[in-house]
Amino acid sequence: MTEAPKPSALASLIELGRVDVQIALLNAHKKSLEAERVKRKQALDAQAMKRGARAKLLDEKKLLNTREEKAIKVERDRINDRRRALSTLNNYKLQQAAERELDFVSKQVGQREELLLQLMREIEILEKDMAEIDAVTKGLHEEGAAFERDAVETLQGIEAKLQEYTAERTTHAQAIGAGTVLTTYNRIKDRFPSNPVVDVLNRDSCAGCHMKLGPQVVVQISRGDVVKCPGCSRFLKLPAE
Ligand SMILES: [Zn+2]
Repeated sequence: MTEAPKPSALASLIELGRVDVQIALLNAHKKSLEAERVKRKQALDAQAMKRGARAKLLDEKKLLNTREEKAIKVERDRINDRRRALSTLNNYKLQQAAERELDFVSKQVGQREELLLQLMREIEILEKDMAEIDAVTKGLHEEGAAFERDAVETLQGIEAKLQEYTAERTTHAQAIGAGTVLTTYNRIKDRFPSNPVVDVLNRDSCAGCHMKLGPQVVVQISRGDVVKCPGCSRFLKLPAE
């Protein structure tokens, strides 16, 4: 019985790089979903704040409207009462003076009524505004719920894959063994999460930084040596056939 040959450090490094790129992609996807979730919550919060401000203003204006309506009615009633009382006055001059005064007061009440109309228009606009905000909020909620359903499922998938890849990663890292290669690799992976191990292009240059490598590099890699690009420090591999 012979044991399966131990994979070379280079082969394990290439596998480790492949797995780490997948892990980086999954983490980026996870991050973008989480950012989207935050963005959606902020959009809803903004609508809620806007609505709160409008509601407060509307309450104030409605209160003012009720108060003013009552006050104007009292004024109008008072003017009518006084006009009726005028007919009992038998002094013509007094009657004329009182009538002029009542006309003046009546005009003032008329101005208050104009202002009241304006206030009622403002209330209408605010109510329309709020209905629009409510419609937008409802739309955001519905979209948000659909997004959440998808996101929860996607995140579960991502977590499951991350677990698989993490286990796979451990296997490859153990195969390489603790040492300079692994330490260096981990540092490079942090710098180049999307491609810590890069191809040798056209048998003579680094696919990562395009530095010329010289012909001996291909020979070394073919032999199974672990070779780093002198330009960007990434590990080099030969392109898949
Ligand atoms: Zn390079």
